[in-house]
Amino acid sequence: MIIQLEEKLKAKGKEHILTAINSIGYKTTEVKTQKGHYLVCIGKNEFDIRIIGSLDGVQDIHRVSDSYKLVSRKWKTDATQIDLGNKVVIREGELTIMAGPCSIENEEQVLKVVKHLVANGVQIMRGGVFKPRSSPYAFRGLGMEGLKMFNRVCKAHGIKIITEVMQVSQIKEMYDYVDIFQVGARNSQNFNLLDELGRVDKPVLIKRGMSGTIDELLQSAEYIFSNGNEKLMLCERGIRTYENAYRNTFDLNAIPVLKEKTHLPVIADPSHGVGVRDYVSSMALASVMAGADGIIYEVHEKPEEAASDGQQTLDFMESEALIKNARAAFSAKREFV
Ligand code: PEP
Ligand code: MN
Repeated sequence: MIIQLEEKLKAKGKEHILTAINSIGYKTTEVKTQKGHYLVCIGKNEFDIRIIGSLDGVQDIHRVSDSYKLVSRKWKTDATQIDLGNKVVIREGELTIMAGPCSIENEEQVLKVVKHLVANGVQIMRGGVFKPRSSPYAFRGLGMEGLKMFNRVCKAHGIKIITEVMQVSQIKEMYDYVDIFQVGARNSQNFNLLDELGRVDKPVLIKRGMSGTIDELLQSAEYIFSNGNEKLMLCERGIRTYENAYRNTFDLNAIPVLKEKTHLPVIADPSHGVGVRDYVSSMALASVMAGADGIIYEVHEKPEEAASDGQQTLDFMESEALIKNARAAFSAKREFV
């Protein structure tokens, strides 16, 4: 059960509500986010919801049977919008496009991608500076110096930044230089990291773990929300299966399922999802048709020279075609009955 409290609620009123919840044998977690003040109540006993609903200070009350609560659509039917400032808003009903290299490599590379994005009306650039790599000998990113350069070039052109944070200690130093923190697939259930990202006022995109279920992804998002940050979005990026004809099995099914289960924006990452350049654009278009609120994919001037993930990275021509086609697919979908 979720109780939304009135903004002006005084301590005494809150105590009264907590006593009433206690008396029905429910355990309560208090959550204060940028947008609201909630009580998440967990328990099994049957009771008349009107008893709590009619108490002073209760703005709204809902039973939520899902294992996740605050991120559930059962409670909040309005889709969450994420405002990045300067009129860049991630929302249902508009297609958000985020693109950029797998890794930030140097200033020239960033500038070329920025110009490509600006020319195509894309406002958010992706690029990792802290890279999770299977091999310790592979390129692991430029770190904070790279992020500062990435930020400087993007800000000069009005482009927002999404980049991966790998551990708690990085959050503070990265904070001023990012617009969206990305939680990578390998960290999808790093609960300490999720807790800490719940305590910052900055949007977070959380990727599905390589072997994570949809329910687990939603519960990971619940960690962040329940710590106070509701500027959240989810990302389907493929899961590991027995199929080895491509890098991952892009779970297209997850998109409509997530859209139904949660009010959070759902973003598709076909680059990691399929992992093969020739299939990325079709899977991106398929995700748009499946109802994704946005796509995030890898692009590089010369994919064959990319420091990481070149095999799944589009070149500028392919990217330009994808942007046009994705927008066309999105508007065509709007006309569907
Ligand atoms: C990435 O975005 O480059 C990345 C490492 O993604 P994932 O965590 O989905 O593997
Ligand atoms: Mn990558």
